[in-house]
Amino acid sequence: MSDVKKPVKKPRGRAGLIAGKCIACGARCESSCPVDAVEMTVAGEPIIRADKCIGCLKCVKVCPADALEMAFTPEERRMLAELALDGAAQPEEELDPEAQALAEKLAQYRGVWVFVEQTEGEPARVSWELLGKGRELADQLGVPLSAVVVGEGVRQLCDEAFGYGADQAYLVDAPVFRRYRTESYLRAICMLIDEYRPEIILMGATGLGRDLAGAVATVVGTGLTADCTGLGIDDRRNLMQTRPAFGGNIMATIMCDKFRPQMATVRPHVMPLPQCVAGKGEVVEVTCPVREEQVLTKVLEIIFDKKSDHADVAGAEFIVSGGRGMMGKENFHLLQELANELGGVVGASRSAVDAGWMPHERQVGQTGKTVRPKIYIACGISGAIQHLVGMQDSDLIIAINRDKEAPIFEVAHYGIVGDLFEVVPAFTRCIKERRQQLGKAA
Ligand code: FAD
Repeated sequence: MSDVKKPVKKPRGRAGLIAGKCIACGARCESSCPVDAVEMTVAGEPIIRADKCIGCLKCVKVCPADALEMAFTPEERRMLAELALDGAAQPEEELDPEAQALAEKLAQYRGVWVFVEQTEGEPARVSWELLGKGRELADQLGVPLSAVVVGEGVRQLCDEAFGYGADQAYLVDAPVFRRYRTESYLRAICMLIDEYRPEIILMGATGLGRDLAGAVATVVGTGLTADCTGLGIDDRRNLMQTRPAFGGNIMATIMCDKFRPQMATVRPHVMPLPQCVAGKGEVVEVTCPVREEQVLTKVLEIIFDKKSDHADVAGAEFIVSGGRGMMGKENFHLLQELANELGGVVGASRSAVDAGWMPHERQVGQTGKTVRPKIYIACGISGAIQHLVGMQDSDLIIAINRDKEAPIFEVAHYGIVGDLFEVVPAFTRCIKERRQQLGKAA
């Protein structure tokens, strides 16, 4: 009788937390555990129940901070050492069929897309800003960057998209797409996704973009992160989507690691506008079988809101903003005078808007506009996080506040501790005088 060696089962170990490494990401380890072996403390850190853990590695793999590791008993370590020596007897690494199936599913999706928003053929600037970010993401992933252009007579937008970095453009051009309607655009985008399977889709967080992105994500059954302020790629090819959460008090990084495409919207002016250079790419023309009679919504007339305030705070190069420290509506003329000297516009904090001193269109911040001017002058604004997320990427920030501890000074390049009612008029006077001197000298 031959001496057949009984196969030794490879010890799987038990998961354990490495002290000090958990970042309380939101209990991903707990939700990944198939046997409920992970319990969370009030601080958001896991406690692994050794009596329940089956050593499946799921929590270890899902942890974004590599804070979990497998622990082995001395007996198990001895067995592992023996198996390592006796290579032939070492059983094959067990494949987790669920993880394998997921990896295969995700691998079918490749490429970064940016939806090019247009109204009457006029592109929204945010689409070009997103192509700039999309280029970075596509380069990191080693995949093409594609623009998605939908409309009627909009082929020229594909060429413009190449100038902003796209490698190719999917063009859906037909009369039924002349004006935006959720139904028709939704069908076009879903058809493209079904056929070409991108891993990432970015859209502007505009009225149109928010409407379309939500509808698309619902139909294709994937996640959507709205109003992202940062986008990056992790070491598993997942899109890291950062946005303010809990009223802006924390910045959360959200991942959609089990579904594709990963969808995100970004507000105008959050990403820098890339330089437009002459570029070439391939236009992939796609016919979408949507007929006018299938679209229930009809656009009868477009009526522009005459009452709304037309000062473009989001697009301004110079902004002089006022907060609660302005003490009243009647004092905003001081800011307007300074803005006039600079050729800029007046913005406001939410407190100033809530007090009725300025219209909502002028509000800067999380629930207002995101701005990226050359100069942002904050007058009597404390610098709450919800305000900062809307203006902290300005090229130059000057803060005027009488409280030297005000948080606005943490993001300001120049800070003036003083009474704005003295500083702002002095500022305006100074610029006026400089102008006159320069005028005389010329
Ligand atoms: P305050 O915080 O009251 O600060 C007034 C400042 O003026 C003080 O620092 C004071 O020292 C200074 N001051 C007073 N008098 C003078 C003087 N004579 N000279 C110089 N300085 C003076 N806020 C936004 O701005 N935008 C948003 O989009 C936004 N969205 C929000 C969303 C949510 C969900 C929540 C919860 C809040 C949001 N907020 C937003 C509100 C935000 O939290 C702050 O309450 C707000 O930004 C404070 O406005 P403020 O700085 O003008 O007022």
